Parts: sequence; structure tokens; C-alpha cells
Amino acid sequence: MADVRDLRIVIIGAGMGGLGTALAFAKKGFKNIDVFETASNLGFVGAGIQLPPNVVRVLHRLGCWDEIFAEATNVKGTSIRQGSTNAELSHVDMPDIEEKYGFPHCTGHRSSLAGGLFNGCRKQSAIKFHFSTSLVKVNSFSPKAVITVKPRDSDEYTVEADVLLASDGIKSRTRTQMLAELGTESQEEDTGQAAYRIMLKRSEMEHDPEMLELLNSDTVVRWVGERRHIIAYPVSNKNIYNLSSAQPDTNFASATNATYTTKGSKSEMLKVFEDFCPLVHRMLNLVPDGEVCEWKLRVHKPLPTWVHGSVALLGDACHATLPHLSQGAAMAIEDGAVLAEVVSKIPADKMHDPETITKTLKVYELLRKPHCSELVALAAHSGRILHLGEGKAKEERDREFRQNGKTGSVPDKWASPDVQKMIYSHDWVQEASDNFERLYATL
Ligand SMILES: Cc1cc2nc3c(=O)[nH]c(=O)nc-3n(C[C@H](O)[C@H](O)[C@H](O)COP(=O)(O)OP(=O)(O)OC[C@H]3O[C@@H](n4cnc5c(N)ncnc54)[C@H](O)[C@@H]3O)c2cc1C
Repeated sequence: MADVRDLRIVIIGAGMGGLGTALAFAKKGFKNIDVFETASNLGFVGAGIQLPPNVVRVLHRLGCWDEIFAEATNVKGTSIRQGSTNAELSHVDMPDIEEKYGFPHCTGHRSSLAGGLFNGCRKQSAIKFHFSTSLVKVNSFSPKAVITVKPRDSDEYTVEADVLLASDGIKSRTRTQMLAELGTESQEEDTGQAAYRIMLKRSEMEHDPEMLELLNSDTVVRWVGERRHIIAYPVSNKNIYNLSSAQPDTNFASATNATYTTKGSKSEMLKVFEDFCPLVHRMLNLVPDGEVCEWKLRVHKPLPTWVHGSVALLGDACHATLPHLSQGAAMAIEDGAVLAEVVSKIPADKMHDPETITKTLKVYELLRKPHCSELVALAAHSGRILHLGEGKAKEERDREFRQNGKTGSVPDKWASPDVQKMIYSHDWVQEASDNFERLYATL
């Protein structure tokens, strides 16, 4: 008997989005899921990640949250400080996030999130990983998606998919080709910002009472200054303190490379934050010479569509964002869960009808595109507010900060109760399930 779960699902990229998508389809009972990934293994950068309740909801449902939570920090508040003085501009308590939204707000190590997802995938015989294998091109977007892939050490071959899901990141080849077919160009955008990512070990910090207090806390701290900031929090059972910065992209301006990363210079990094307080200096000074790495922060102009034929984009491939709202990976994982939900709704007798598949993927786009576009815009807006220099606008911002979120709004948008409510209270999988027929009928 025909069964929609027999559809062949092909996923490009095993980043957070690809792993989450593969697991979501397997959990829905799909039996043929292939994941193609250029890298030879997961190889995630040594960095932390915020895990807001909206992604925890999905991870919980996918059965991999307990493992990730075992090493995570359950965040109870955020402290926003003037970078130059360490004086607190605002302290937003978040004691009841779990009570309000059903799931906690946590921070963790990226490898812990990726590892949890990957271990979940490995328990599913339906998922087959093809590491060291790149998508070369999409030969056809419909009626079936046909792609050419190339293993690193052997000849290229073609793969046919009933549904092709492209989680191939900011430099998505699938997006470039999809937009070309639709007669428009892929337009990546420079944000003018770059980031340092730093991880400090407990053994390096414990001699310093002020640093130790940060490491032992349940608090996310953001030090802000003109055109730059540092955000920091404990991860890995509070054995590592993770710092991530944003600053003007001066080092990359002249020399962009393919990976958007560059070995940074420690003296340059110290110079960028030279007017920040001694506590920040002491932490930055712990970074070994030669181990400073800088990331270029890039986004993409809003896309006309995320779907063409039997192919859908997800994650950074279609809504790359500045990190200031801590929602990039969360959105990618949510996308995958929504895709699994809508594709599972295809009636068995229509499962090989190309129009049904396209319309189903369009339901995903209808659900997710307005929301993700809003969050991308909000992350950019939050960055502009955080990076204000002296003047009236900054005075007004700091006055708002001093309300400590009691008016329902905080200029640092990830910590703002109104924004949290807007992001955390949506159960997108439930919404996809409840609204599928209605949205499908509009197409
Ligand atoms: C400094 C910084 C801090 C951040 N903080 C947070 C945070 O706190 N919370 C949060 O939710 N998000 C955060 N993000 C955002 C988050 O990291 C990204 O949005 C997320 O990782 C995107 O996942 P993805 O799977 O869409 O893409 P990626 O992680 O980029 O994965 C794409 C994958 O596709 C593979 N690939 C690419 N091309 C091909 C091809 N042709 N063939 C085969 N494979 C291919 C790549 O090798 C890669 O593994 C942050 C980002 C930055 C830069």
C-alpha cells in the first residue's frame, strides 16, 4: 500500500539545520533519508550557543534534549553592562521562562547540540549520512529533484529525490541555482560586522574571583560599547566560559575568503576592545597567541521564495541572520521540524504528484517565511541599538535599560519579555499541523 513515509527525502548539509531535519523526518516515520555533507565529519567550531525555549521544545520532541541539557546552563537572567566600566545598565531576571513557555532557556556548547542531534540520528536506521560528499549541482527541480553529488575520493553520481531539502548554509549552492532558474540573482550582503569566538577553561579563570563568579553564574552577560559588544555565558557544566563578540569588520574588508573566517591577531583583538573594562581585558588576555579566530558576519537579501518544484531551502540557506537575537540555529531546527510535519500530511494517493509536493512545501514557506524574516530584521535592529555611540538615542536606550524589563521591553531584544513572548510561545509544529489544510487550500 502507498505510504507517504516511503518518499525519498534528500538533505544537503549536516549543520544544525540538516541534522534537525533528518531527525524530524525519521521521527515522523520516513524510511529513506539521505544526508550529503561536504565535510568529513561534524567538525563544529569550538563555540557556545544559546538554546532558547522555542528550539528546546523541538529538541525535546525529537528525543535528544535530555542529553544536551545534561551539560547545559539553565539561564536565570541577563546582565547588560557598559563595556568601558562594567557598570550594569540593566539586569533582566528570567526566573520563570520554563513556567511561561514550558521549556527553559539554556546555553550550551555547539558540539553538545550537534552531538545530541547526531546521536539521535544514529539511532534511526532510516537516516544515511554521506560525509565527504558535496552537492555539485541541481540538475532538475521538478517533477523529481535530481542532483549531482561528488564524493571527495571518487566520481560524481546523480541522486533522485522526491523531496530535496537544502540546509547548505549561507553560501547555499542550491539557493544560487534556484534563484537563477527563477530569473533572479543570489545576493549575499555584508553586514560590516565580524565576530571573535573565544572559549576559556575553568582552570584558566578560577584564580580570579570576578571571573569565577561569571563562570559559576546562571547569567548571560553582554558588555556593550560603540559599534561593538561581547556576549558571554557558561557552557559545558560551567567548565567553559564562552565569549562571542561583534565588531566592525575591518580585517575582512579587503580580504574575504571562502570560509568567512580568518586567523585573527591577538593584539588587534585587544585593540578593538581597548576601551573596555579591566575584567574584559583579563579574559581576552587569556586567549593564547595564534588562537584568535574571527568570523565574518554575512546575511542575504530577503528571498522572493524558499521553494521551487520539489526543493525547499531552510536555515541559513534562506534566512541567514546576525547572531544578536540568538535565533539562527533555533530557526533552522524549527524549519526542519515544520517540513517533516507538512510533508507527512501529504495523502498517500498524491505522494507522487509534483504539484502536491510543491504546494506542501509552499505551506512550510507560508508558515515560516514571515516569522523568520521578522526575526532577521529584529536581530539587525537589536545590533544597531546595542552599538549606539554617545548621544540622545543612547541616553534614551540606557533609560529604557534601567527599567530592567519591567515595562515589558528591553533594548537588547533577545532579553526583551515582549520579544521572548512572540518567539517562545509559538509551537510551530503544532501550528503546521493545525493549519495545514487551510493554508494548502489557499495555494
Ligand atoms: C557568532 C555567532 C553566534 C551565533 N549564536 C547563535 C545562538 O546563540 N543561537 C542560535 O540559535 N544561533 C546562533 N548563531 C547562528 C547559527 O550558528 C546558524 O544560524 C546555524 O548554525 C545555521 O545552521 P544551518 O544548518 O542552516 O547552516 P550551517 O551550519 O552553515 O550548515 C551548512 C552545512 O552544509 C554543508 N554544505 C554547504 N554546501 C554544501 C554542499 N554543496 N554539499 C554538501 N554540503 C554542503 C556545510 O559544510 C555545513 O555543514 C550564531 C552565529 C554566529 C556566527
